[in-house]
Amino acid sequence: MKFLVTGGAGFIGSHVCKHLLTEGNAVTVIDDFNDFYDPALKRANLASLGSGANLREGDIRDAAFVEDVVSSGGFDSIIHLAARAGVRPSVTDPQLYIDTNITGTHHLLAAAHRAGIGRFIFASSSSVYGLSTVIPFSETLPLPQTLSPYAATKLAGEQLCGNYAHLYGMRVVCLRFFTVYGPGQRPDLAIHKFTKSIHEGKSIPHFGDGSTRRDYTYIEDIVQGVAGALHYEGPLFDIFNLGENQTTTLTELIREIESALGMTATIERLPEQQGDMPLTAADISKARRLLGYNPKTPIRAGIPKFVEWYLSRI
Ligand code: NAD
Repeated sequence: MKFLVTGGAGFIGSHVCKHLLTEGNAVTVIDDFNDFYDPALKRANLASLGSGANLREGDIRDAAFVEDVVSSGGFDSIIHLAARAGVRPSVTDPQLYIDTNITGTHHLLAAAHRAGIGRFIFASSSSVYGLSTVIPFSETLPLPQTLSPYAATKLAGEQLCGNYAHLYGMRVVCLRFFTVYGPGQRPDLAIHKFTKSIHEGKSIPHFGDGSTRRDYTYIEDIVQGVAGALHYEGPLFDIFNLGENQTTTLTELIREIESALGMTATIERLPEQQGDMPLTAADISKARRLLGYNPKTPIRAGIPKFVEWYLSRI
């Protein structure tokens, strides 16, 4: 099969591409290698795929570029992962997030519709649950209020996906990822930042009292969920949580990293951060039932694997 993976040079994208290539598929990557974090890491991610992936370097905010790639590629499916990720920078520069995550997503959907692409997978986020208080979060929950422009753009992206399924019969699957980690994790995310700081003997910023909880998902489990979505034949438009179904407090997370590194953290206590969610917890029963999703790496097993990767490359 022929796949277009947007954001394929990024953390999750490069793992998805690796899986698709291993399975013998043809993969084209769209990425603009922007400097949200060091673009050299993205180039290295892509290089690690060998000569298998065909790169179309460019920006999904450019409608003509997207149209050219999609109309000329003969793709069976599009896996749309390119986005401005990260909650806090979206508070500083919401327009960039709106342009990339909403307008960019629309460019992909419109081009996919014109080209008659069979399947569109959209990377959404646990952040769409915002102020939801019913724990764990299930896909059927009404979504009362998001807490950041990033979250709002992901919810808008889901809505646009739903429109294309409803209006044009496009098959679309939205996957709500819950904080993803593992080898290659984005350097702006907590596990990576904490590991680096503890290892370098620097203090780590600790926002709030340590009681905030997250459902952390290991990258191989996410890839398995994406692979499941490629075979889903249920309703034309559907949404699935991909989490680990276990929550970890910030304090517990730091302990796990300390233990994997064999070092002790110096903690700098700071107030809660604007836009952050106090808790994320995924109900994954729907993905288990309909996608065959079966996450296998709890945080206790995943953190040592991340730390091993981190130490292997410094
Ligand atoms: P990432 O930043 O490593 O990957 C995103 C890739 O998209 C990058 O390589 C980037 O250069 C590319 N990109 C960004 N803007 C672009 C543009 N305008 N044109 C072309 N390419 C562009 O992030 P990630 O952690 O791999 O996240 C992948 C997807 O999953 C994103 O949609 C993100 O919102 C979503 N997600 C991630 C997490 C997580 O914990 N990592 C959680 C929920 C949702």
